[in-house]
Amino acid sequence: MQRLSFFWKIFFALLGVIIISLFVLVITFRISLPVAFGRHMDEMRGMTGVMRMGENMMGNPLFDIFNKTSSEALWLSIPITLLIAFSASWGISRLISAPLRKLFVAAQRISQGKYNERLPMPENIPEKQMDDLQRLSAGFNQMAASLEETENRRRQLIGDISHELRTPLTTIKGSMEGLMDGVLPADQTTYQQIYLEADRMQRLVEDLQELSRIEGDAYTLAREPVDLNELTYMLVRRFVPLCQEKGIHLTNTSEDNLPRILADRDRLEQILVNLLGNALNYTPNGGSVEIHARAIERWMQIEVRDSGIGIAPEDLAHIFTRFYRADKSRSRSGGGSGIGLTIAKHLVEAHGGTIKAESAGVGAGSVFTFVLPLTG
Ligand code: ADP
Repeated sequence: MQRLSFFWKIFFALLGVIIISLFVLVITFRISLPVAFGRHMDEMRGMTGVMRMGENMMGNPLFDIFNKTSSEALWLSIPITLLIAFSASWGISRLISAPLRKLFVAAQRISQGKYNERLPMPENIPEKQMDDLQRLSAGFNQMAASLEETENRRRQLIGDISHELRTPLTTIKGSMEGLMDGVLPADQTTYQQIYLEADRMQRLVEDLQELSRIEGDAYTLAREPVDLNELTYMLVRRFVPLCQEKGIHLTNTSEDNLPRILADRDRLEQILVNLLGNALNYTPNGGSVEIHARAIERWMQIEVRDSGIGIAPEDLAHIFTRFYRADKSRSRSGGGSGIGLTIAKHLVEAHGGTIKAESAGVGAGSVFTFVLPLTG
């Protein structure tokens, strides 16, 4: 059996209530009429002295006429009442079911992948003044917007990944073809080129895995008291050989006796390795890189400053966006996937902190600063 739609359910419910009320009205009218008539006649008798108290109204010609007149009026008013009640029930049912019907249609369209579907909403109406149906529509629109955003991000991500993989794959394929056709010499340089591209692809895939873990919150922070004096010292020592190779002057100017910070040590190290790695990568030979940590009230501020290529003002706003590279060709050749800062930002924010980048412009060096709460 086909189920009744919401509209008909409301309609029949309203109509049912009206018919029951009418039925009760007619019965009570019939029962109360002789009693009320008798009472009023008694009052009149008291005034004129013509009739006796308690007289049975049945068979009384005056009552019979009155009874007929009122019954006629009653039977005439019932169809009119029913007609009006029918129309009112219809209108009210439509009023209630129409927005729900729209909601149903919109939900169906979203399930078919049309994520730009929205329900019409009155403009500039504060949430407190909305009725329940308007709140339902607003909630639905919010859900649709976040589904649309997720879908857009998914599409964008697939596009970005394909784009990122295409370059190393094209290079590897080109080199292999060159080798097969004998155009490229089968020597160390050619093999190294192929190896470097394969290595870049591997790093990209690893970075993507890490990004998806971090963006999907599929990790937990193992917070413990971390000594930043020890951590920065250890990291600087690790980077010294690379700096010497590039002729970069690396210094640690962190304040002494820093308070311990409640954080995930490995994740903190990951953030710092990324910032220091970038600083070295984007600073030409002979430049300088400095790491400086200090406690400010209940926060720990860590700065990685370099005298490198700097960042143009129009790029500053985007460098924490995944796959964004300020200088595409240079970053790509330097092996960057444009994911490191996105991961760093997620990790800093997971610790309850913030991160920012500053630069006076191209060629003027850069400063990356992040702050973390001391107590985690
Ligand atoms: P990548 O792996 O490409 O370095 P990141 O997410 O770490 O990816 O950085 C994103 C972009 O930000 C880089 O491609 C680069 O253009 C810019 N960038 C990051 N750090 C620096 C820096 N210290 N100096 C200049 N540009 C930087």
